[in-house]
Amino acid sequence: MQQSSHPTIILGGGFVGLFTALHLSQQNYPHPIILIEQRDRFSFKPLLYELLSGELHSQQVYPRYQELLLGSHVAFVQDTVKAINLHHQRLTVASGKNYDYCNLVLALGSQTTYFNTPGADKYTFPLTDGAEAIALRKHLRLRLHQAIQAKTVEEQQYLLTFAIVGAGPAGIELACTLADLLPIWYDELGGDSDNVRIVLVNRSREILKGDINSQLRCTVQRSLKYRQVELLFDAAVTEIQSDRVHYQQHDQQRELQSGTIIWTAGTTPNPLLADLPVTAEHRDKRGRLVVKPTLQLPGFPEVFAAGDCAVNPDAPHPPTAQVAYQQGQAIAQNLKLQAVGKPLLPAQIHLRGTLMKLGLNDGVANIFNKLQIKGQPGHLLRQATYLELLPTPAHNARITTEWLTDELFQRHRPFTRTQLGHTPFLPGMAAIAASLVLATPLVWRAAQPQQFQQTLSWSGVPTLLNQITPSTR
Ligand SMILES: Cc1cc2nc3c(=O)[nH]c(=O)nc-3n(C[C@H](O)[C@H](O)[C@H](O)COP(=O)(O)OP(=O)(O)OC[C@H]3O[C@@H](n4cnc5c(N)ncnc54)[C@H](O)[C@@H]3O)c2cc1C
Repeated sequence: MQQSSHPTIILGGGFVGLFTALHLSQQNYPHPIILIEQRDRFSFKPLLYELLSGELHSQQVYPRYQELLLGSHVAFVQDTVKAINLHHQRLTVASGKNYDYCNLVLALGSQTTYFNTPGADKYTFPLTDGAEAIALRKHLRLRLHQAIQAKTVEEQQYLLTFAIVGAGPAGIELACTLADLLPIWYDELGGDSDNVRIVLVNRSREILKGDINSQLRCTVQRSLKYRQVELLFDAAVTEIQSDRVHYQQHDQQRELQSGTIIWTAGTTPNPLLADLPVTAEHRDKRGRLVVKPTLQLPGFPEVFAAGDCAVNPDAPHPPTAQVAYQQGQAIAQNLKLQAVGKPLLPAQIHLRGTLMKLGLNDGVANIFNKLQIKGQPGHLLRQATYLELLPTPAHNARITTEWLTDELFQRHRPFTRTQLGHTPFLPGMAAIAASLVLATPLVWRAAQPQQFQQTLSWSGVPTLLNQITPSTR
């Protein structure tokens, strides 16, 4: 049994950190638990587009830590970690305070990288947390207002051109969302929505290159085409200015004038990791920390690392939320085992297919690379899956109920019937498709409840159905 009066400290309150803290808190863990996070709110990143569009509101996908951790055994400290001394088991935060720890969890995630592109950090909008989503929403609205008042056609074209750099999943999901959303907002102001232009700028010819979602490429391409998103392929961005993107394409230097430039082109591990006493052989080529299958740092058995800032070379997983939250659960389990002197277990991570948002009320779910559920049913499945993951049972129950009310019973609708017609599915067809999607699992649940629960628990569908029609068994 480990004896120490020092706390277990979790650095970073993202998917790994928050879920580690919440799981530990429920496990009768003998040490104090401190979560240190620089922000006051948790960003549920896969649902940031919904925060931007207003489909979900900030209490749902951008809740305060104080609220999430209320009643837990976790002490929340809002501060920025500045230095970590692994040898002395001590860290320093921006306010100048030092903390000694018995165990440390490195859950510091990644940050946007601009690949040294001049002007990119100054003139582009990132989309990596709730605050950035809200700032981007304000800017988009401002541009549309300015476009209404524009004095010349050229000025209006510039204001209504929205460039997104990077055709990875975030760039594509954002492009589809904006292609549906901005025409609605512009219509509301009395503008001609046909003038709104969304341009996706991509370095290679391939979208979703090397991404876990690459199986969805054909579906995504159709969706972009349907929404008339312009694609600039083989376009290597060389410089960003306040009003334009400079890029090189087929040996020619070109430029795109744009009133809004959004950067989704790359991430790099948290820079604090670079200062740790970890040799090059225990880092991957991106600088992420190499961890053992138990998620411990080699040479520092009291330190765990996971999520976007770490990699287990024996079982590498993509840097995604679905991996990170499972790792949080595994770390909590191992901390508890370590505290009671038992052998630690390798983290078991199950990949559960992938999900993408392809516009308002539109999405695709890729189930084990075998089945794709598209359109509004895909959207419903995606929402249900993520709502299932929202932290803390109380929070989860409230949001799921709110969302069900909005989506299925249509009491409150942020978008009108004609506006929903912007999606590839007519509303009526979508409702029928959604009913079919819901009816099949209902029959399955009634016939084989255990198998149903086991097979689909990853997807959130059992919880979703229990909310709508509680099982009689
Ligand atoms: C727009 C977007 C959409 C995404 N969509 C999906 C999706 O659909 N599906 C999916 O599976 N994944 C998705 N991801 C990826 C997923 O969100 C990440 O893989 C996941 O958040 C990684 O979890 P993490 O805990 O490692 O890091 P994070 O969630 O990034 O958390 C790191 C935390 O550390 C904090 N922090 C950093 N530095 C410090 C410091 N010095 N001091 C204190 N705190 C600090 C940060 O504020 C942050 O809260 C998306 C990401 C983005 C940006």
